[in-house]
Amino acid sequence: MVLGVFAAIVWSDPDAYWPLDLDQPPGLFTQWRIRLLADEPLACQRTLARADIAASLAPERPQRNGCGYDDAVVLSGGALAETPAMRCATAAAYALWLRHVVQPAAERRLGARVARVRTFGAFSCRDIAGRPGRRSQHATANAIDVSGFELADGRTVTLSRDWNKGEPGRFLREVRDGACGLFAGVLSPDWNAAHADHFHLDLGRAQICR
Ligand SMILES: [Zn+2]
Repeated sequence: MVLGVFAAIVWSDPDAYWPLDLDQPPGLFTQWRIRLLADEPLACQRTLARADIAASLAPERPQRNGCGYDDAVVLSGGALAETPAMRCATAAAYALWLRHVVQPAAERRLGARVARVRTFGAFSCRDIAGRPGRRSQHATANAIDVSGFELADGRTVTLSRDWNKGEPGRFLREVRDGACGLFAGVLSPDWNAAHADHFHLDLGRAQICR
């Protein structure tokens, strides 16, 4: 009962009652709290601003045939430069992942920070591969595909080349596992051949981590 009332209050305005601090390492409720921001674009934008994450609004793509978005942002600054437009909550999960999972893992395992993330993009008006009629999370810019990382010292780590290779491979598995506490759907080369060269990260309904 008490928990229900609390949840209802937080749900009504998560940012006012329980603001999410992206500077804090992810915890037990982080993914749930990111999901609350999915329906609160302004609260989501405030959350990014509080963490000094530069974000500009992307032009709207009105919904048509199950594709489009009206609350996407483009992140910038450091390794977030060149990030494709994503729905704000997905972008918040991505920024958290980069800050608290990817960068510490890169420094610890590879001895350098990530300067740039390589992606295959975020928005794409299409169905899930092999499942005609079911729109992909990419169709609403609710997902991003990450193919590799460029390190500050010039080295690169790519999924297609390094997934099974020593320390770079362990780095990739660590950042995959760390994404699972932030995103809902996390698919890697372990999932299927269609993901042999990238991580698929989304904030859809399905909880998958593989
Ligand atoms: Zn994908």
